[in-house]
Amino acid sequence: MFFRTQSTTTAAKRTTYSRGTVHCGRCGAPNDLYRVEAVADEFSVRCGSCGHRGFYRKSELGVSQLPERRRRPR
Ligand SMILES: [Zn+2]
Repeated sequence: MFFRTQSTTTAAKRTTYSRGTVHCGRCGAPNDLYRVEAVADEFSVRCGSCGHRGFYRKSELGVSQLPERRRRPR
């Protein structure tokens, strides 16, 4: 007979991910980058709202740390 034990260690670690945001040079719409670590010093992002392809530097990137699980507002 088998007893399945559920591990409760998942709550101990709180993981975060970093998200970068650049604003479009043409229309100013914020575009999110989800792989902040992977970007080069200069990178290009295509705007999601107007389609303009802009070049940005890593120093322009606004990085915000977000929790892995978002709480939904009730
Ligand atoms: Zn744009």
